[in-house]
Amino acid sequence: MKTSLIGRVKTLWEKRDGKCPACNQQIRAGDEWHVHHQIPKYLGGDDTLTNLAILHPNCHRQVHVKYKLDELPAL
Ligand SMILES: [Zn+2]
Ligand SMILES: [Zn+2]
Repeated sequence: MKTSLIGRVKTLWEKRDGKCPACNQQIRAGDEWHVHHQIPKYLGGDDTLTNLAILHPNCHRQVHVKYKLDELPAL
């Protein structure tokens, strides 16, 4: 049985107590959010939970501005 990406995102969100790992603030239901891949897909990353992070759109942008792709922090 395949879990949808949204299903996995929800699991991840619950696992993190609904918090954004970048700023540690709550991401509430109804808020906008981005899915971040720790290892980008084109570098071989997949859609497993350990490779995904849910961030605020702003936090997501900052992570990518701040770090080079090969230096992305584990969130
Ligand atoms: Zn955030
Ligand atoms: Zn990202």
